Amino acid sequence: MKAGDLMAAFSAKQLEQQDLNYILADLLHCPIPELAFRRGQELSPEQEILFHQYSSRLQKGEPPQYILGKAWFYGLELEVDPAVLIPRPETEGLVELALRHIRPGQKVLEIGTGSGAISIALHKARPEACYTATELSSEALQIARRNAARHKCAIDFQLADLFPSELARFDLIVSNPPYVSPQEYAKLEPRVRDFEPRLALYADDGGLAFYRRILETAPQFLPECGLVCFEHGYSQRKPILELAGKLGWACLEALQDLSGRNRYLLLQKSAASVTPAFET
Ligand code: GLN
Repeated sequence: MKAGDLMAAFSAKQLEQQDLNYILADLLHCPIPELAFRRGQELSPEQEILFHQYSSRLQKGEPPQYILGKAWFYGLELEVDPAVLIPRPETEGLVELALRHIRPGQKVLEIGTGSGAISIALHKARPEACYTATELSSEALQIARRNAARHKCAIDFQLADLFPSELARFDLIVSNPPYVSPQEYAKLEPRVRDFEPRLALYADDGGLAFYRRILETAPQFLPECGLVCFEHGYSQRKPILELAGKLGWACLEALQDLSGRNRYLLLQKSAASVTPAFET
């Protein structure tokens, strides 16, 4: 069967065109924009079987990235499976914010790395810095390790609940922590709620639980004037800034994503929030 005929038959089954494009481009080994010129291409019997298998999974609502086991982030192909969140385009904005503040030789900690997407993208762009990345899920950490190896990034991955178990000093902490509040979680589209890891999405305390924990403990891991870069939910800027202010953090940058939604914060630890625990 020709690619174009398959696409027509399956879009009649009310599958999202962009999901179909995603899997067909993978099967034909071509970029999505090129599909328009490949409609006349015959699929091999093996490709056709795979297309049928993939599209029946799409029909059950599974994201195409899990079906193919890969996703793109910051120009990098990454392995993904349901143990990790599919990297979101808006998280590329967090990478760009962090990159503007990473200097050669500095130490960077990523909290909750998932597939490793953020640390790997940072390492690719600023290989002269040192990267540590923590993750609570050992399944996710295995994927992050494989992704880093594939992209030849030396990252110190640690299985940990937010912060490394041994006290260490970093210059910058970056995190896209789980931030979906219990109310929002219940309303998430099934494609996200039923397939992506709750551990990577759900946060108590109106979605703020991890920002609180990170901001409370980060001073022990940062020098005076150390930085924290966050991605956050679009309605969370104000409550995070209130929380940060109470804990002695100053806001250096508050930015929006490409859809114009409040999405990123750069916070700086003020001298008053230094905890003596780490002073040596
Ligand atoms: N942006 C993700 C979503 O809306 C949430 C990511 C997160 O909780 N860190 O599905």
